[in-house]
Amino acid sequence: MKRLTYKTLVSEIQELPGAGRLVLPLLQVGSSPLEACVGVGDEVARGQCIGRADTPESAFLHSPLAGKVRALSRAVTHEGTSAGTVEIEGDAAGEVETLQPIQQDAAELSAETVRDRLREAGVSPLGGNGKNAEYASLRPDEEPPEILMVLCADEEPLLQTQRHVLREAPEKVIEGATLFQKAVGAKRLVFAVSGDQTNLVSGETLVVEKKYPLRHPEILMARMTGRYRLTEGRPRKDVHLINAETAMAACRAVREGRPVLEKTVTVGQEGGLSVVVRVPLGTLFSQVFENMGLKAEDGDRLFTGGPLRGVAQFDPEGPVTKGTDGLFLQKGRGVFCYEDVACIGCGQCVKVCPMKIPVNMMTRNCEFGRIEEALDYDLDSCIECGLCAYVCTSRRPLLQYIQFAKKEQHKAELARQSA
Ligand code: SF4
Ligand code: SF4
Repeated sequence: MKRLTYKTLVSEIQELPGAGRLVLPLLQVGSSPLEACVGVGDEVARGQCIGRADTPESAFLHSPLAGKVRALSRAVTHEGTSAGTVEIEGDAAGEVETLQPIQQDAAELSAETVRDRLREAGVSPLGGNGKNAEYASLRPDEEPPEILMVLCADEEPLLQTQRHVLREAPEKVIEGATLFQKAVGAKRLVFAVSGDQTNLVSGETLVVEKKYPLRHPEILMARMTGRYRLTEGRPRKDVHLINAETAMAACRAVREGRPVLEKTVTVGQEGGLSVVVRVPLGTLFSQVFENMGLKAEDGDRLFTGGPLRGVAQFDPEGPVTKGTDGLFLQKGRGVFCYEDVACIGCGQCVKVCPMKIPVNMMTRNCEFGRIEEALDYDLDSCIECGLCAYVCTSRRPLLQYIQFAKKEQHKAELARQSA
């Protein structure tokens, strides 16, 4: 098994200069697509709302630049979803248009006031590479969870984003977490931290080990509830999750009235040092690498997120979104190709699966769209950690088979409901 070598420079978060041109997908994690509320040729202020939806959980989108709207178009985001986009040209030097700061104690505020503010300021779950269905939602009709958990360590190896955010502003993370707890109505607030972070937070903590996938949201939720299998009920109902960056954004949205305009991202190149940077939303990947003096060569692979749950990108002109936690260049010689080849029955995938799924049997059915059979082999309990694909002797695209089957299952479920 190949080991990838990336080392992280532990330092301050570096502010990267934004480009004069940004592309912003009209999509937020965990909410409906947004409608553009600007037109081509419009002048926009920095911080002005440019996209919104009227569903109660949809956070708005704001312009990180003061400038002009150049185009309204469509693109596929790095999370693999097609979305409308707003392209803006201008500069990020101007004053930010803020909302009225709210100063009352969290205890004196209503959940509705906090929820409305988070929505208006664009606070949707940040990070998780857009795969955070398990993250907290601001839907007012959802039953309040027992626990709001704040993940202050990063889910995957190589990523250092959340660690750096907590180190930078622990008091804002704590304050934002308290406000988010108010918004979702959770009875308990728990900070999930690694052993060396316990002195940065106060209140109830859960110490999480470094070994992957022990910081995976589903594993953490299961650890809090003691329920690991679907048949025992999804822990999602009792534990909602946000990360340190979302908590900090919540604090700034309420206390400073500041909308979400940037994303913190771990950026690195194989063999070099990774650095944690903050960039305006909508900055193109190519621009981030150029600003850091990194250069992709023919055959190199660019991926967003971490090495196990991340997604290889076909377009270096893709934009940083609220879901982007990591951006990495992997050397071409280190890239191996997955293929639809036969399973040799070595059992490595079964051995490594944290959910004890018969992965070889389950994925054989996923591959050919036999969803009912895949469900019989526990497809529903898969947390998409990617470990099975990482160790597969035949290099079969196991995670892609699983994700394909889950999408098919979801489509079939929607069809059943509308029949
Ligand atoms: S991705 Fe693979 S290893 Fe991870 S839970 Fe699913 S089946 Fe198991
Ligand atoms: S690791 Fe790959 S080849 Fe081995 S049993 Fe699992 S799917 Fe088959």
